[in-house]
Amino acid sequence: MKKTTELIGFGDYCNEINHRPVRTINPPVYKGSTVLFQEYEDLALANRGQYDGVAYGTDRLPTQRALEEALRRLEGGHLTRVFQSGINAIINTLFAFTKAGDHILLCDNIYGPTARFCRKILSRYNVEIGVVPPAVGGDIVEYLKENTRLIFLESPGSNTFEIQDIPAVTTVARERGIMTLLDNTWATPLYLRPFDLGIDVSIQSVTKYISGHSDVLLGSATVTEAYSEEFKKFYRVMEIFASPEDCYLALRGLKTLEIRLRRHERSALQIAKWLETVDLIDKVIHPALPSHPEHRLWKRDFKGSSGLFAFTFREDYSEEALAGFVNSLELFGLGYSWGGYKSLLTAAKYNRACSARYPEKIIVRLNIGLEDPGDLMEDLQKGFAVLRSAGKMNSI
Ligand SMILES: *Cc1c(COP(=O)(O)O)cnc(C)c1O
Repeated sequence: MKKTTELIGFGDYCNEINHRPVRTINPPVYKGSTVLFQEYEDLALANRGQYDGVAYGTDRLPTQRALEEALRRLEGGHLTRVFQSGINAIINTLFAFTKAGDHILLCDNIYGPTARFCRKILSRYNVEIGVVPPAVGGDIVEYLKENTRLIFLESPGSNTFEIQDIPAVTTVARERGIMTLLDNTWATPLYLRPFDLGIDVSIQSVTKYISGHSDVLLGSATVTEAYSEEFKKFYRVMEIFASPEDCYLALRGLKTLEIRLRRHERSALQIAKWLETVDLIDKVIHPALPSHPEHRLWKRDFKGSSGLFAFTFREDYSEEALAGFVNSLELFGLGYSWGGYKSLLTAAKYNRACSARYPEKIIVRLNIGLEDPGDLMEDLQKGFAVLRSAGKMNSI
């Protein structure tokens, strides 16, 4: 045999050494397009669509399956599928469960790209999009139509943190056979149990707390038994899959999710409470503070709070003053996404279709990371000093 031919055979995967299995604690990262069949009979089964093993690289390789099973158990659902990002999980789940002629309802405070997909793309397939205010509760009944297929919720809302009365909505929806979906990224399944509240599909941007290290983009959707077959078929036909390395990293993130989340929670609450005493600040928007408008709902349904919250200023600062504040911070990175170990900040105005709670107000959103909370407060304090002197300049 020539060297070139020999080389092709080298490096075969082996999980046994001297007939002893090699068992690392972590699952191996399986990568592959082709997956070899043991024998002709298996290939023949696959040709007929009857093979029950993994037939191809898009057929959910073992590292992906390990993550899906871990998330399914964490969520307490019936079937989980992972996607290459959170927004991909949302888009595909909406595609999976809608058809031309359907009407769907979106909570007004959902993640911007979710609403954008519905308005710009889903509507082209003759799916009618309606919007409900976050406080809709049992009044959801007034928004339903004959052809309402599903209701999409996100609690707390992206950037504005409204908490919804999920059971009030799901009770009405269940009576009428309408699906309910929840983007549960903020609380994770550790702090909110969607299936206990009557939700049919629980969605996670795994990118955030589950991965936890700002180095992975992944999403997941977990469904109840009633919707499993439909979802499973959609996923297979679309041949969606996720990167094996990213699935591996998300599995690794899961191991420390609980301990990280506790730390994020404690630090964020400490900082939020302190911010409530700072004279420059108007509202601290954090569902676990008694001052939050739906604190009662949060307390009833959630088991904890995470590290993402926001605040508004009393004054309307100029762009320059705001830039001075933000640029003076040393510990807060400026950037999108959240749920990682590093503290981050964003600042923007959020206009809603029907429910602006803080219209025309700059909302400063903080992702409290795993740094020492005292250091983070000191950093913010320095930033506020910059704002104070800018405020004085304004009034001269
Ligand atoms: C970030 C985010 C998403 C999208 O997740 P990606 O993995 O970044 O695509 C969806 N929903 C919420 C609430 C998010 O914060």
